[in-house]
Amino acid sequence: MARTQSRFVCQSCGAAVLRWEGQCRTCGEWNTLVETVVHDAPRPRPAAARAGSAPVALARADNATDEVRRPVGIGELDRVLGGGLVAGSVVLLGGEPGIGKSTLLLQVAAGVATGVVNATGVRIPPATVLYATGEESVRQVRLRAARLGLTEGPVGEAVSVVAETGVGRIVDLARAERPGLLVVDSVQTVASEELDGPPGSVGQVREATLRLMELAKSDGIPVVLVGHVTKDGTLAGPKTLEHLVDVVLSVEGDRTGGLRLLRATKNRYGSTEEVGVFEMGDRGLAEVADPARAFLAEHDAPAPGSVVAPILEGSRPLLVEVQALVAPTAAPTPRRTASGVDQNRLALLVAVLGRRAGIGLSGHDVYANLAGGLSVTEPGLDLPLALALASSLRDRPLVTGTVAIGEVGLLGELRSVGGLDRRLREAARLGFTRAIVPRSSRGRPAAPAGIEVVVVGSLAEAIRVALAEPASASRRGT
Ligand SMILES: [Zn+2]
Repeated sequence: MARTQSRFVCQSCGAAVLRWEGQCRTCGEWNTLVETVVHDAPRPRPAAARAGSAPVALARADNATDEVRRPVGIGELDRVLGGGLVAGSVVLLGGEPGIGKSTLLLQVAAGVATGVVNATGVRIPPATVLYATGEESVRQVRLRAARLGLTEGPVGEAVSVVAETGVGRIVDLARAERPGLLVVDSVQTVASEELDGPPGSVGQVREATLRLMELAKSDGIPVVLVGHVTKDGTLAGPKTLEHLVDVVLSVEGDRTGGLRLLRATKNRYGSTEEVGVFEMGDRGLAEVADPARAFLAEHDAPAPGSVVAPILEGSRPLLVEVQALVAPTAAPTPRRTASGVDQNRLALLVAVLGRRAGIGLSGHDVYANLAGGLSVTEPGLDLPLALALASSLRDRPLVTGTVAIGEVGLLGELRSVGGLDRRLREAARLGFTRAIVPRSSRGRPAAPAGIEVVVVGSLAEAIRVALAEPASASRRGT
C-alpha cells in the first residue's frame, strides 16, 4: 500500500521541503513553494550507464569509447549533435512555441525510419519511432506529417504516434515496442501518475524527465524531449532540467521569418561549438546552402543605420546585419529598444557615443535589432552597433562593402576580438571589400585577399572611417 505524503516544491529550483515557507531556502525566490502530493512508490534506481567500465588510456580513448551513434539524416542537426543521436541519451529540444520543434522532430523521425549512412560509412538500418504527443491530437500530427510528405511509404509505417500524457504509460509502451527513437512532445504536458501536481509544474517536469532517463539508460533508447521556452528565453520548468539531460538543443529565430538557428548549449557527447542553420519552407526545415550569408538582409542600396558584422557562432562565422534607427523625441525619457542585442549594452553604447564620439542621442529614441531574428551576445557586436547608431543619426550609410567588428570600452577605446582571421576570410569570401577592426597589441591582422583591413584606435576614429567623414566632421556635434 503506497503511503501518501505532501511536499512543498519550489517552482523555481525544484527544492522540496516539508512545510510551507514564504521564501525558498535553496534559491532565495519568494512565494515559489507549491504543495505537491507524493504517493511514495518504490522506484527502480537508474541502471549504471555502463556496468564494469574499464579505464582507457587517453591516447586510445577516442576509439575505445566511441558511442553508438545514429545520424538522423539532417546534416546540420547531425553536426550540432556531434554525429547523431547516441544510444541511451536524452536530448532536450527547446524553443518558443511555433518555432518549428515538432516539424523538425517529424523530420528526424523520418530520418531514423529511413536509415542513413553514418560518418564512417556504416549503414545504420531503419528503425521504428514512437512519437508521444501531449500537445496535439494524433490527427494533427498526421496532418503535419502529410504536409511534409512523410505519411507515404516505409516512413508512414515505421513512425507511430500516440496521444498520451502519462509518463508511466509512455515508458511501458516504449519498453514493449523498443523503438529506435522515442519523442516526447512536450515535457511540459506529461505527468507522472504517482504525483498529484499538474503537468508542467516543477515536480512533474522533473519526475517525468527522470523516468524517461531511466528508460533511455536501461534500454538504450534515445529519447528526445520537446521543451517550451518562456518569454525571457529560459526553458519552462525547473532549472535542474538542463542538468539532468545529456544534450540541450535550442531553436531560435523569428517565427514569422524563415530562418532558424539551432545551437547546442550542452552536449555530453560532442562540442557545443557547432550551430546549424535552417530555413523553414513548405517541406519543413531545410538546410541552408550558404549559412554564412543567410542572416544578411538584402538591400538595393546601402542604407543608413545598417552595419554588417562578421560574428562567430561557435566555430562558424556568420555575417549578420545590425540595424539601428534613431529618431528625435520630445519624451522626457527617450526609448532604448533592443531586439536580438543586449538592452544594457545598447544603453551603454548610447552613453559612450555621446561622451566620447560626439554622437549625442539623449534627445532621440533608439531602436536596434539584428536582421533575421537572430540573438547574439558576443561583445564584438559593440562596434557594429555603435556604427549603426552613428550612421542612423547622421543619416549617412557606411561605405559600400564594409564590415566591422570589435568591442567598445567605457572610454571609447576599442578592443579586438578572437578568431579575426576566420571572420575576415568569410567576409572576403562573401564579397565584402573593407573591414574596420580595432588596433591590437598582437600587431596588424593579416588581410585575406580582396579585403582591405582598416585598423582604428578609437570609436570616434571608427565612425570617421566608416562614414567617410572628413576629420573635423565628427566634432561638429549634433
Ligand atoms: Zn527554490
